[in-house]
Amino acid sequence: MSIDLDRRPAAVQKRTQPFAHTKIVATIGPASEDRIGELIDAGMSVARINFSHGSPEDFLRRVQKIRSEADARMASVGILTDIQGPKMRMGRFEGGHRLLTDGDVVRLVEGRGMSNPGEVVFEFGGFQTAVQRGHRVLLADGQVELVADSVSDAAVVAHVTRAGIVSDRKGVHFPDSRIAYELPTAEDRANLQLAREAGVDMVGISFVSKRSEVQAVRALCPDALMISKIERQAALDSLDELLSESDGIMVARGDLGVEAELEQLPLIQKTVIQAAMRAGKFTITATEMLESMITSSRPTRAEVTDVANAVLDGTDGIMLSAETAVGAHPIEAVATMTRIARAVETSQRYRDIPRPSFRSAEANFSNATALAAVQASEALNVTKIVCFTETGNTVRLISRYRPNAEVIALTPNQRTVNHMTVLAHVRPLLFRREKSLEDMLYMASEMLVVRGLAQYGDSIVFVAGVPAGIARSTNVMKLHKIGEEVKLH
Ligand code: PGA
Ligand code: MN
Repeated sequence: MSIDLDRRPAAVQKRTQPFAHTKIVATIGPASEDRIGELIDAGMSVARINFSHGSPEDFLRRVQKIRSEADARMASVGILTDIQGPKMRMGRFEGGHRLLTDGDVVRLVEGRGMSNPGEVVFEFGGFQTAVQRGHRVLLADGQVELVADSVSDAAVVAHVTRAGIVSDRKGVHFPDSRIAYELPTAEDRANLQLAREAGVDMVGISFVSKRSEVQAVRALCPDALMISKIERQAALDSLDELLSESDGIMVARGDLGVEAELEQLPLIQKTVIQAAMRAGKFTITATEMLESMITSSRPTRAEVTDVANAVLDGTDGIMLSAETAVGAHPIEAVATMTRIARAVETSQRYRDIPRPSFRSAEANFSNATALAAVQASEALNVTKIVCFTETGNTVRLISRYRPNAEVIALTPNQRTVNHMTVLAHVRPLLFRREKSLEDMLYMASEMLVVRGLAQYGDSIVFVAGVPAGIARSTNVMKLHKIGEEVKLH
């Protein structure tokens, strides 16, 4: 096989900045939807569209733009969409806001629209039966805190313990109470239908707290990966259950920082990432990572340190929200993340991060082959592990060991390519299935050379399953020198 180097699209040849092993998730909004190609060139691996903002038309147009910009670059870009879930909001206030001072007694009532003096309207129910005397009620995403004094069918009466200003339609949290709610909501169901028709690759489930909710969302969008957003105390309490039911999780520090004490967030992040890695699930660390870049062209020292620390914690993905959706410097924000991640990943400190042990993982052929490949690549100082995969399962297992080598994941399924865009250390590529394993190894070797990913004479580690084309059949690890003849018998 011979492939002419110059047949690569200009955008592929032009891209010189090396990608990071850690995956960058960027939220698409008005500031970035016409600059998606630039986001990809700067290192975006997953594009996120949040159903909390924008209309169905915005959603479909953005999906279309992401797909066409990725195709034009022969780039692998996954699409993640977040369903809103039961976000609990206040109604409105005369003049748009109200000051609540320490000791104020307030009646919390269910309703719609304007709050009367002495009352705050909640646009949802269920709190009257869940809140007990002494429970905290947090208004305006945690700005204002109240404690319940008495509860009746009609209202919760509470007094203010942390003063502040509340304004129209801001979020409400009950860290101490178990509010019964429906997830997915009617609106989520409509959005999931849209997501399914548009073929999105991953769904972020906001405010999820139990297994059955993940199952219900998966049933409505069965081809997408399920990402549980850990953003309430109840989700932390059932972390193991959510991990086993989901494909990955998001450390959603925004809402989580309201329900948990802020100073607990760094430790929660580490605990959740470690638990996910042990369970073989991927993680995305989210919210305020480069917040100051919404307006500034350079991040703060604290933000740079936060991104670096998330990489050292072992997160698969790092996420940008408002920075790329509505910020003034969306491309610079992605490029900045790429540079921070690479600076960490090329350090000895990163190589010294404890890897998950084999014993804690699945005892099957795929996992044993994955571990053998990682160890061989390390023993030989090989920079590429090439894995043929149908479902991405073996690639997920290799990624989990965080090898120093990059994992080139080759699959004939576009859906599998898109799913793997969120896995750390993985470069997913679409690749035709050949008749024999010999042909696959030969074609893959040539492709690596053509793409500039390897040179003749380089050693690589191959991982495959024979017979080819069958899911869950990984059973071969082959060491190979590129350019030498492939002979398996
Ligand atoms: P959101 O989720 O941006 O959809 O609120 C992330 C978070 O809460 O941190
Ligand atoms: Mn949130």
